[in-house]
Amino acid sequence: MEKTMIEAAVAQWLARFEKGLSAADDFLLKSLFHADSHWRDVLALTWRIQTVSGRDDVVAALRTDLGCARPSGFAIDPGRTPLRRVTRAGTETIEAIFKFETNEGRGSGVVRLTPDSGDGSHKAWTLLTALEALKGHEEQVGKSRPHGESYSRDFRGPNWLDLRKEAVAYGDRDPAVLVVGGGQAGLSIAARLTQLQVDTLVIDRMERIGDNWRKRYHALTLHNQVQVNHLPYMPFPPTWPTYIPKDKLAAWFEAYVESLELNYWTGTEFEGGRYDEQAGRWTVTLRGADGTRRIMHPRHVVMATGVSGIPSIPDIPSLRDFGGKVLHSSQYEDGEAWQGKSTIVIGTGNSGHDIAQDLHSGGAKVTLVQRSPTLIVNVEPSAQLPYALYDEGPSLEDCDLITTSMPLSLAKKSHVLFTERARRIDKELLDGLERIGFKLDFGEDGTGWQFKYLTRGGGYYFNVGCSDLLVDGRIGLLQFAEIERFVAEGARLRSGETLAADLVVLATGYKGQEYLVRKLFGEDVAERVGAIWGFGDGQELRNMFTRTPQPGLWFIAGSLAQCRIYSRYLALQIKASELGWLREGLRGILEPDAERVLATGEKSLS
Ligand SMILES: Cc1cc2nc3c(=O)[nH]c(=O)nc-3n(C[C@H](O)[C@H](O)[C@H](O)COP(=O)(O)OP(=O)(O)OC[C@H]3O[C@@H](n4cnc5c(N)ncnc54)[C@H](O)[C@@H]3O)c2cc1C
Repeated sequence: MEKTMIEAAVAQWLARFEKGLSAADDFLLKSLFHADSHWRDVLALTWRIQTVSGRDDVVAALRTDLGCARPSGFAIDPGRTPLRRVTRAGTETIEAIFKFETNEGRGSGVVRLTPDSGDGSHKAWTLLTALEALKGHEEQVGKSRPHGESYSRDFRGPNWLDLRKEAVAYGDRDPAVLVVGGGQAGLSIAARLTQLQVDTLVIDRMERIGDNWRKRYHALTLHNQVQVNHLPYMPFPPTWPTYIPKDKLAAWFEAYVESLELNYWTGTEFEGGRYDEQAGRWTVTLRGADGTRRIMHPRHVVMATGVSGIPSIPDIPSLRDFGGKVLHSSQYEDGEAWQGKSTIVIGTGNSGHDIAQDLHSGGAKVTLVQRSPTLIVNVEPSAQLPYALYDEGPSLEDCDLITTSMPLSLAKKSHVLFTERARRIDKELLDGLERIGFKLDFGEDGTGWQFKYLTRGGGYYFNVGCSDLLVDGRIGLLQFAEIERFVAEGARLRSGETLAADLVVLATGYKGQEYLVRKLFGEDVAERVGAIWGFGDGQELRNMFTRTPQPGLWFIAGSLAQCRIYSRYLALQIKASELGWLREGLRGILEPDAERVLATGEKSLS
């Protein structure tokens, strides 16, 4: 009975929403939203990734930003998780997944309704409209899988392997898209683009696919549980352990490239590129492991080089006086070489803690040096709290859509609640750390590790044992301010003592992607693109997964989940751009010309 009533409420809301949009009826649209409501559009209606907050602004944007999208067919999607009552960001709400279509594509959305305190009617608290597919250019999956006619029936022609070899060689052609970096970000966008029939080449300077994980420290297993970490199209087998070991993931990356027929060149460094506005393409230089160079002209370059690209080395002039070895965390390989030696690790993020623990396990004497307050959270259960949705029962696809549907302010509110809970669960550990003088931090406004990651890319540690070693005194702790200077034998402390050391590891993080852009594309492009990652004053990650002010330049990065989710949207934009459906300077809205073309069924505007 209850279910029928809420179903009717959602169906009525969707019908009225569609009517409000098609009739351009502001009054009706306003009656559907709470004053404090949010609309996130991921390409479906505006060709942008944008969040608008507040009823008046939402309605104004719905009226002005829709271009020729002409959305219709809004209905609860019977093929997806049924609508239900849930608590999000501390508020009980009805959450429903719906479908719709536009002139250009098919979309899915999530609407959350809560009762109006005045008349009791159900109004929208949050609304997501997201593009899922471009009409006429759907992914070739399931029933639309490729038939393989050419190599299945023509016994004289090239077979599947011949065709694969030819595709990956790029002997007589250049790719439409060059993806720089073959970690999870590069693989997911390449998989999506390949599905959309966009000729895509991934390059990575490492020798072997998966080396970006293989070469990390010996004991590494992933921090998030396996069910959150799947790559697009090819989920990890159900037999896999909860926390995936690095070498297992590295091997999976190789299998992924093979199975999804991705074009991937190893041992190939991207040296830089220049954009030709007239021709609408790049001239890029790739350097092979043997030093040979290849010039290519892709129309798009996707940077998937990781948010941790160029090491950030702090300016500590006295380190030049130190007689031992100095390594940045990116150069550190494993602890065994330092057995019986004294070591100092500077930096208390994930890398600093993990390296300290690795050195300790290898038999070294270790002191961890803290430079600024750090967020500590036990890897289990506390660090997993934000992923509870992925254990609730909906399919992976529905979990991803629900995750996408959380506007920034509500995501922050949820993370404040997760952080408060984690503090209660981890109280004993956190008290112990404070006792030894470790300076704790819980993120801006208490928003926890996820927002540290999304704003700074670090500043936290998922405790897999190092915090316990610190509390027990088996790894030493020192505040950076206690060091007066480095001397040949180690660190001279303000107390007058000398902390002897053979090795200093600088676990001091990485420079932002802006540095890499400047290095590879020059000052002008770096200026034009501006800040990358983090939110600034906005509600979306800057320049991520979306068009940038530099035509043909795109960025993808983040966790496996982020890459899985946003690679879909990035690929749809590149495909639309290839089809001529996106024009520069139009802020994402199709030109009037496009309307005609779509109406007449022409495939391209150019
Ligand atoms: C202990 C630990 C546990 C973690 N657990 C998780 C987890 O559970 N879930 C999760 O999502 N994340 C986890 N992470 C975070 C994860 O490491 C990063 O999110 C991930 O590596 C980022 O992937 P990426 O593809 O963006 O970048 P990377 O993996 O850094 O790959 C970038 C690639 O670009 C290549 N490259 C860079 N510059 C060039 C160039 N000029 N030319 C050619 N190639 C280039 C590099 O060789 C590299 O292979 C964990 C990290 C650590 C250390």
